[in-house]
Amino acid sequence: MPSRKPLVPPATRYEVCHNERPLTLSSQAFVELRETAMACTSCRLAETRNNVVFGVGDPGASLVLVGEAPGKNEDLQGEPFVGAAGQLLDELLGGIGATRKDVYIANVLKCRPPGNRDPKEDEIDSCKGYLREQIRMIHPEVVVTLGNFATKLLIPTETGITRMRGRRIDWWRGATLIPTFHPAAALRGRPHVKEQMTEDFAFVAQVLEERSSDRGDSDPVQTTLGLS
Ligand code: URA
Repeated sequence: MPSRKPLVPPATRYEVCHNERPLTLSSQAFVELRETAMACTSCRLAETRNNVVFGVGDPGASLVLVGEAPGKNEDLQGEPFVGAAGQLLDELLGGIGATRKDVYIANVLKCRPPGNRDPKEDEIDSCKGYLREQIRMIHPEVVVTLGNFATKLLIPTETGITRMRGRRIDWWRGATLIPTFHPAAALRGRPHVKEQMTEDFAFVAQVLEERSSDRGDSDPVQTTLGLS
């Protein structure tokens, strides 16, 4: 994939980490962002989509997962990762004691590319502002990129996901970014992919816990993932 302008400007990408969650999330601003996205006609995908797939989960979550683009089922239901890849994602989240309600799940593209083809450069450029604003407003502790498209949009790298996966990257606004494979890669039956994704998710849980203890939270898991 050719390199492109990064999602966040270099000057702010590696801001000093303050480890502070915002006291209140401007949920109104988040609702307005969603409404704007739902009516978006900035690229050709608006002509073929059934639904805009904005994202799902807790807009106050500590963990954000970023996939590539909606597929057929997601386009029909308006929710990310509802197909087979989504089942695997739910399983991986379950492995670290979380559900999709505890995290926030979004995609690089909010609309389905016809026939599930790869996202095009200009489509990513038209759409990336929504993802940037989602992440800015959520202000998560950890961002997990699922696969090459999400990883290469969020960090400036030419290195493929096989070598990037499982790394811990100090990212924008103090967040930690951890790339892993796209769940679809595990479903294609490539050996070890699911195993490696399981390892990566365990690492994600560890980083969330570390960051939580650094903040002095009394119950790291509960506070980090919002579990009851
Ligand atoms: N693959 C993605 O990247 N995102 C989805 O929402 C579904 C499948």
